[in-house]
Order: sequence, then structure tokens, then C-alpha cells
Amino acid sequence: MNVARAAWWRGKGRCVWGLLLLAAAGLLADEYKSGIEWPEPPVITPGTDQGPPSDAIVLFDGTDLSQWEGGSQWIIQDGAATVRGGGITSKRAFGDCQLHLEFATPEKVEGEGQGRGNSGVYLMGMYEVQILDSYENTTYYDGQCGAIYKQYPPLVNACRKPGEWQTYDIIFTRPRFSADGKLETPGYVTVLHNGVVIHNHRELLGTTSWDMAPQYTPHPDKLPLFIQDHGNPIRFRNIWIRELE
Ligand code: MG
Repeated sequence: MNVARAAWWRGKGRCVWGLLLLAAAGLLADEYKSGIEWPEPPVITPGTDQGPPSDAIVLFDGTDLSQWEGGSQWIIQDGAATVRGGGITSKRAFGDCQLHLEFATPEKVEGEGQGRGNSGVYLMGMYEVQILDSYENTTYYDGQCGAIYKQYPPLVNACRKPGEWQTYDIIFTRPRFSADGKLETPGYVTVLHNGVVIHNHRELLGTTSWDMAPQYTPHPDKLPLFIQDHGNPIRFRNIWIRELE
């Protein structure tokens, strides 16, 4: 046996011993277990085509606004509801949630800046994720489509063209207040716009007002959603929500 061949055999021998040792260690080791007795996660049926999963509360399925107050003048047509005559407020109240909604800004482009395709979805009626036609329409960045209004611009502008259907998937953790009204933890928002992350666990600074700095005032654990009428005929469809508390 030449020198190189002998070295190869020695190497192979070490490999075999190494594998045997690893196998023995595997037999002797204990599996890690957390010790927590978890309840079984509920079995649900996921939705298809952005449709609601089986445990969602459907807030608008294209037929009527019976889950909302204030929409008597909205126009229901072709499975969509068009803003008219004031905003709408959900009859039910929500705290931590996953919210899906679809919207389309007017196909016929009118106005500019904040005056073009403006609406908004207000979590707990006071924390707005802006809806705007921001397709080739510049405005202040923390007020463009997808902004947490006057707090954060979206990470990217993922807008589709005017008239095209767009999606928001919002994951919201409400703020927590102590019994004496002090803020314990702020709210957090994650938003996907047309499937693209535009906010990743953003810390809410408070309410999203046009004329006031963000601020927190203690409020109940659950409050209704609000969809804004800003004078533009935005269409909505397929609105559903899952409570996460
Ligand atoms: Mg708005």
C-alpha cells in the first residue's frame, strides 16, 4: 500500500468512528420538551381567492351593508359598495384582529394629491391606514396610499392603477392601557398591500388626526371599524375580519 492510499484509509476510519459516536450520542440524548400543555389549535378551513377562512366574520360579501351603520346612501352594485353620503361604522367592535379588504380608486382620475381617490380604514375608529390613489400621484409621503396617516409612509408604493382592485391585509394589535388610564403597550400594525409588506409591526404613536399630533387617550378594548368618506367614490368588496384575542 502506498503512502497516499494508507492516509486515505486512515481518514475513512476516522469518519466511521465519528459517525458511530454521533449515533450513540443521539441514542443517549433526551428530546427537549417545553413542558407546556398546549390546547389543540382549532381546525379551520382557509379561504380561496382572498375569500374568508371559515372562522372569519364577514363584514361585506358584496350583497349588503347590514354589518355597518351609516351606509344607507352607499351604492351596492356588481358585488361592490361605493362610498357615498358619509363613512360607515361596523356594528361590531374589534380589538386585536386580522382584517382583509379590497378597494378600487375611481377609474376616472379626478383631483390630485389628497383629493384623488381618498378614503381610509380606521382601526378602532381612530387609527387610519390611508386609502388614496397614489398611482403616479404625489402627496406628502406619510399621507399616501398605505400610510399610517401622518405617522409612517408605506415601505414601498405598491399601488395598482386607478380602477383596479387592490387588497389590504392588516394585522393589528391594539394598545393596552392600565386601570388608571396609563399606556402600558402601544398599538402595532402590520400591513400587506396587494400582497406586499408595507408596514412590518409598526408601533402606533397614537391617533392619526389631520390637525393634531398623534396621542393616546385610554379607550375600551374593542371598538368599531370605520371606513372614511372623503368625497371620492371608492369601491369596496370582500371585507372580512378575524378576531385575534
Ligand atoms: Mg383618508
